[in-house]
Amino acid sequence: MNKQTIKNLLRASAITMAVLAGTLSPVTVFAAAPMVKTQAPAYYRMMLGDIEITALLDENSTWPSAMKDLFPNVTGTQIKSLMSQTQLQAEFDFSTIGFLINTTDKLILIDTGGKGATPSYGQLFTNLKAAGYRPEQVDDIFITHMHPDHIGGLSEAGVRLFPNAMVHIDTLELAQLEKRAATGNKGSQASIAKLRPYMDAKKYHGFAGDTEFFPGFRAISSYGHTAGHSFYAVESKGKKMLFWGDFVVHDKVQLEMVDVIPPGEPDAAKGTKLRQINFATAAKEGYLIGGAHFAFPGIGRLRDLNGKYIWVPVDYASIPLNSEAQP
Ligand SMILES: [Zn+2]
Repeated sequence: MNKQTIKNLLRASAITMAVLAGTLSPVTVFAAAPMVKTQAPAYYRMMLGDIEITALLDENSTWPSAMKDLFPNVTGTQIKSLMSQTQLQAEFDFSTIGFLINTTDKLILIDTGGKGATPSYGQLFTNLKAAGYRPEQVDDIFITHMHPDHIGGLSEAGVRLFPNAMVHIDTLELAQLEKRAATGNKGSQASIAKLRPYMDAKKYHGFAGDTEFFPGFRAISSYGHTAGHSFYAVESKGKKMLFWGDFVVHDKVQLEMVDVIPPGEPDAAKGTKLRQINFATAAKEGYLIGGAHFAFPGIGRLRDLNGKYIWVPVDYASIPLNSEAQP
């Protein structure tokens, strides 16, 4: 009998005595359970009219230097002010999310996560299976932009990980990468390699700007974060959701400071204007937003507090999923 067992026995007998003496009510939970320390499968499902939307987490990690990496122009004073105004934590969690859309005619994936970028990326595949789907069921993939954390899941060592899917991307994205790759840029070459197996199989479709792919699903140009960055809008039964990609990479920072410049944005004034317009419209119309890096599941709305916007995540909704009961 070890020390812990003796301690537990003494504790149990002391409690029994207390119950018998009438000083403690008989509660039966005495044993200390070990902590489990695992999370629930990271998918979140909801209905948008007749369409099923499933958010799939690809990665979540604490990123201590994220503020400096994401917003190199934010000053120390501004960071202090953000932390006190928005409850932003010094080491904040950062999610990367893909969104699966089932229209019943088609299974669509928006962005594929960053498989291969670091060992912790690539959980989208585990979560896709946990959500009841298989990669080969995906018909179409729509990419918001060709950064490694959005296209990493396309392929691995030249093999398409979504063997039946057609990949759609604004043509400006590949053109931008090809230009850089030609100068020897290794990152751009690696990004093109992720898409190459689809190009070889004639399963890559480049589109030019605002495009309607079928009624209720379209791309909307939101150039800025990258040359061909695109939103995707899905609508059903009068309900609308807009997938923002990296238009906003951190809600607490960019909603509080609309003019903060994210990395890679070549025209700060144009980017700020685009955010002002989109924040105002989203809050006014009240449509849902899917953010690739918002806190999982990355689905919510914007609320306008006299010109200041705050993120309102969707409430958790239990099953059965009923379009009438959903946002
Ligand atoms: Zn990203």
